[in-house]
Amino acid sequence: MIDFHCHLDLYPDPVREVRDAEAAGVYVLSVTTTPRAWVRTAQLAKGHKRIRTALGLHPQLAHERHNELGLFEDLLPRSRYVGEIGLDGGPGYREHKALQRKVFDTVLHLSNKGGGRIMSIHSRHAVDEILDQLAKVPGAGLPILHWFSGTSSQLRRAADIGCWFSVGPAMLRGAKGRSLAKAMPRNRILTETDGPFGSGPDGPLHPADAWIAVKQLAGIWEVPLVEAKRQLFDNLRFLSESGPDHIRARTPVAQRSIA
Ligand SMILES: [Zn+2]
Repeated sequence: MIDFHCHLDLYPDPVREVRDAEAAGVYVLSVTTTPRAWVRTAQLAKGHKRIRTALGLHPQLAHERHNELGLFEDLLPRSRYVGEIGLDGGPGYREHKALQRKVFDTVLHLSNKGGGRIMSIHSRHAVDEILDQLAKVPGAGLPILHWFSGTSSQLRRAADIGCWFSVGPAMLRGAKGRSLAKAMPRNRILTETDGPFGSGPDGPLHPADAWIAVKQLAGIWEVPLVEAKRQLFDNLRFLSESGPDHIRARTPVAQRSIA
């Protein structure tokens, strides 16, 4: 199982989440919302070979934490993954757009300078701007749009510039999320929970709940569960085996697909 976007440090008991994810054999991308949180959150993953910790600066916190960009730069050489980063044009956040843009842009340029990163990106009500920025700094690395909620033409444009996508149970519950997922290139999809923010009928999702999204994808793709699982693991393997050149080129070279 793969949970390629969750916030381990924001659960009430992060140590327990790590233990449970380990016991369930989940591959986790543990994203952070501030550079300051990264050191402690990366510590959580120590000794757990399936957990990677991404260095982030969440767009909803950009106006409060933009002064941590220096720390971001200092820490970046220590992480192959960047996230959660991006832009948020929703109510309550769009008034801070200028600062969000400055933070996002700086992060892209630093990633470019550092040789490219795998990036988990928040794009709520800001897809076009995100894609414009990504197109301007192609060497920043491989973008994974998490919980994509744009239009189908924005989705096509994202796929055209080499974006990947991570989708979760909450997104795939709705008809719109399902039809977007159906249109995504199958060899560029990973599952996620966005826990503890992503939730299901029983409350916040946990990394092991990513299996729900695997089942949903199998339904959307109309393939047996085992096929869906294999596709997702092929995708993960491609990402983890990609060198900096592939990451920067955003090319799905030598990828196998059931499509
Ligand atoms: Zn998130």
